Amino acid sequence: MKHSLDLKHFEQKLREQRDEIASRIPEHQNLEEVDQDIAESEERLLEKIATALERIAGGSYGQCLGCDRAIPLARLEAKPSVSLCLDCQARKEQEEK
Ligand SMILES: [Zn+2]
Repeated sequence: MKHSLDLKHFEQKLREQRDEIASRIPEHQNLEEVDQDIAESEERLLEKIATALERIAGGSYGQCLGCDRAIPLARLEAKPSVSLCLDCQARKEQEEK
């Protein structure tokens, strides 16, 4: 089943998030005591955002990459860059442990 998502709304959110992170990257490079974990997790988030924007363009945004079902709207609202539903996310985290 497909969402009838307000893609413009999510595209806007993703772009804002991306710009916000991108604006902090020069700080990462300048400060010696920047936490590398934070810098790395922000870089990963940037990649996720880029993927989400591609999926908006490709028309598959909002569908879980694991099971192909629609990701609940509340989850997308809270984290527009997610590409997995809660079940698949939990399974993936189990596998990574
Ligand atoms: Zn799923």
